[in-house]
Amino acid sequence: MAELEKPTRVEIKQLDELTIGKIAAGEVVERPAQVVKELVENAFDAGASRVRIEIERGGFDRITVIDDGHGIPSEELGLAITRHATSKLSGPDDLNQIETKGFRGEALASIGAVSELTVSSRIGEGEGAQIRVDNGIVSEVEAAGIAPGTRIDVLNLFAKVPARLSFQRRPSTETAAIVDVGVQSALSEPSAGVIVEIDGRKVLDCPPSESAEDRLYDLFGATSAELIPLAASAADADAPGEERWTGWISPPGLTRSRSDDIHILVNGRPVAPGPFLQAVRRGYHTRLMVGRHPMGVLTLTLPPNEVDVNVHPTKREVRLKNSWRVLERLERSIKHTLSHIATIPEASEATVLEGISERAESTKPASRPPAKLPEWASAASESPTVQTRFSSARTAAEVQPRETKRPESELITEQNTLPGMDAEPIAPSLSSEERELHRHAVGESTSPLDEPAPEAAALPDLSEMIPLAQLADSYILAEGGDELFIIDQHALHERIRYQRLRQQMVSWNGQNLVSPVTISIGARQKAAAVAGQPKLSELGIEFEVVDEGLEVTSVPEVLVGKDGLEEFLQDILIEFASAPDGTSEFDAVTALRDHVAFMRSCRGAVKANERLNLAQMRRLLEDMRTVPNPWACVHGRPTVLRLTIDHLDKHFGRHG
Ligand code: ADP
Ligand code: MG
Repeated sequence: MAELEKPTRVEIKQLDELTIGKIAAGEVVERPAQVVKELVENAFDAGASRVRIEIERGGFDRITVIDDGHGIPSEELGLAITRHATSKLSGPDDLNQIETKGFRGEALASIGAVSELTVSSRIGEGEGAQIRVDNGIVSEVEAAGIAPGTRIDVLNLFAKVPARLSFQRRPSTETAAIVDVGVQSALSEPSAGVIVEIDGRKVLDCPPSESAEDRLYDLFGATSAELIPLAASAADADAPGEERWTGWISPPGLTRSRSDDIHILVNGRPVAPGPFLQAVRRGYHTRLMVGRHPMGVLTLTLPPNEVDVNVHPTKREVRLKNSWRVLERLERSIKHTLSHIATIPEASEATVLEGISERAESTKPASRPPAKLPEWASAASESPTVQTRFSSARTAAEVQPRETKRPESELITEQNTLPGMDAEPIAPSLSSEERELHRHAVGESTSPLDEPAPEAAALPDLSEMIPLAQLADSYILAEGGDELFIIDQHALHERIRYQRLRQQMVSWNGQNLVSPVTISIGARQKAAAVAGQPKLSELGIEFEVVDEGLEVTSVPEVLVGKDGLEEFLQDILIEFASAPDGTSEFDAVTALRDHVAFMRSCRGAVKANERLNLAQMRRLLEDMRTVPNPWACVHGRPTVLRLTIDHLDKHFGRHG
């Protein structure tokens, strides 16, 4: 075996500035969106009233930020790109009272270490000058013809840092993050104009605005009109602490599939919303459906010495002195604000997409699992082996979901129940959503005989069944192997139809709309739509970007003429903006597909209280054998009660 070679010792040396710079650059500039954030902060610190952000290929090819701020004198250009050189701090005491966005004096130096950076600036009517840094190598200051203010160009970011480059996300992901930076900047400086141009297309244009409401409109489109101003109770003013929360929140009926539209500003500085989300959610209490998120722009104002912004190089995280108290106050303010908002009544008219919009509007207590899919869909797909256990005839009757006209089975005395049967109902009762659905599932049922023949072959684990009779026009009694089956005809038919419809629902062919529908969406969704155009096209969605949002010219067939198009698009665009790389299936798409299949399966299924002939029953039983999981209905409740000959023998004392 070869001897392991010991590394030879190397003496300790002080690193040179270039190397130090490259190491430090790693902290401040991990990704293009962070570069943009630093540059925009500098512009605001320079008192800019207009900031223009231009991006090419997610910022990897080019980032340009142009402002009309006070500029940098040519003799200070060299310092501006030097590490720990800043005009914003003069000593350690200042760190406790930071009122500028930047203060570390690191951004420009770090960016210059990993890109081709040009800083050009002109003060008022003076001469313009510029300085270049090519991956750490600084050039001489030279003259530059630019408008008053500062222009920063960052070319080929990370191109010379392969290790960093290989960890970068897709340009489209980065583009979305950069639009977010634009949105947050626009929120933090409502009076400044902010423009974001992605690959030559303007995706965000916020003109300098007089009022915060105007700014909200620029960012969220018409949706902004639904946001409600946060209002603390009068008593809250007397609560200890000087911190104050202001801003806007969405009413409970206006939700998003992600929490990305909750923005938090601490003393005007946009911060990561993570630590605040719980308090927000608690403020909404039971008025939000699980899996849905409110929107909000929440501004915390507190004395500068109660917040430490110097805990993270990118300043996205801050430390609050009295975080617990501050969060409680936020929760209370939201509760108080919402206490004036009436609960939106449940939708009464069922449409194909109702479930999707209804989920958003419903204010039912959240008792379901936090799945993205509606409960019924996840129940059907996640519990492939729900096996009907024995239950008494009595409990089976209780489980019967529909209002029945047929005679209720009388209470059966204990000794008449089969041995080994549970006394408790085994199936959960219908959720209110299901109940609602069944109530609307009127209309014609399709005879099982008129259904297309199942494509799948019979699965071997279920023996052939022969219908014996129908009980109370609701249950099929059937014999198969040595067993007696009591089958809920509606639940079974629904299950069979669901399975088939779900397979067929993969068609997302677009259908042109006679008149285009304009959908009001916010800046980030607009940017996501532009970036995700090919993907949307696959889903049958075609659109033009217009000032008000998107003008949709084609939608998938299932959405034609239905409400809920806007919600669906909102959800899907939000997912686009934040989906991890390589995601091919989107929750909103799956949910829609499941939902439509579910609605249709319930609609056309035979009802309880519906007489079936033997041929129809036979067909149902045949189809049942082709369904992967015939034991559970779409809601995850049992479809079948099974009595084996063994149990009967035991009951009648035929076994020793
Ligand atoms: P910091 O912002 O923490 O001071 P930076 O490296 O971002 O550090 O910037 C260094 C200095 O360059 C700033 O302190 C500021 O004086 C100057 N500067 C940077 N960008 C601009 C700008 N857009 N307009 C005016 N001055 C700027
Ligand atoms: Mg800075």
